Amino acid sequence: MTVSPWTDTIKARKVLTIFATDAVKKDNVWFQVFKDSVAEFNRLSNSLKLGVTFSSPSDVKAPDPVGEGGAEVQFDFGNGLLQFEMQGDKITVMEDTKEGEPPKPLNFSPTALHGFTALARVSFVKGTPGKVRRAFIFVPPTPMVNAVRKVGPGPDDFRDAQRPAGPGIRKFITVHEFIHACGLSNAEHNSTGPNADTFTINPQLSTGTFDKPEDDKILLRVNFPNPNVVAPPNFIKKKVADLIINNWK
Ligand SMILES: [Zn+2]
Repeated sequence: MTVSPWTDTIKARKVLTIFATDAVKKDNVWFQVFKDSVAEFNRLSNSLKLGVTFSSPSDVKAPDPVGEGGAEVQFDFGNGLLQFEMQGDKITVMEDTKEGEPPKPLNFSPTALHGFTALARVSFVKGTPGKVRRAFIFVPPTPMVNAVRKVGPGPDDFRDAQRPAGPGIRKFITVHEFIHACGLSNAEHNSTGPNADTFTINPQLSTGTFDKPEDDKILLRVNFPNPNVVAPPNFIKKKVADLIINNWK
């Protein structure tokens, strides 16, 4: 897999309309994260001249499951099977299996600390690789983290306890998936290290205490004796920025 171009008409427009489902809109924390992430991605796009922004006008409609209407990108919760409809077909997202292994559907955890973006392609000429017509983003409804909780008055009265991740981690997950929606596949992920940015895979966490989910961040690089590199604020380094720019020019 590599970077996939969007269809020519959408590419020329340089804007992807994005629709948050009712389930997302009803979740106050996630809906705010969604809106903040659109603004944050667009800010990055403007400063880095990425050539593509997201737009979520209040009258934006869900992607038409049969026809051409509605948003190009849908933002939804994922739990178990990930499915979407396009051009009358109901598609189930499959796992990346090795050659010779039987295909099996992806089973998405509702408590994961990452999302999944399905790029749905159309091919107008038989035998040519299809261009992206829609993207379906799935995020975990309740991403869970371990946090330190004070359980008593003593100096050792601290325990690890699970709680839902705060908005910072959710924003990282969301802007990361927006980058996928621009056409980038898993093969373009960054690893942690000097190039780490919001498109880094499997980053470490820097969680706040149990009572402070608002302090949750992603730890991208330990930079001793300088401060650690954390996100948010989300940022995109040159390697990933260039991939997006080239896919949208
Ligand atoms: Zn990714």
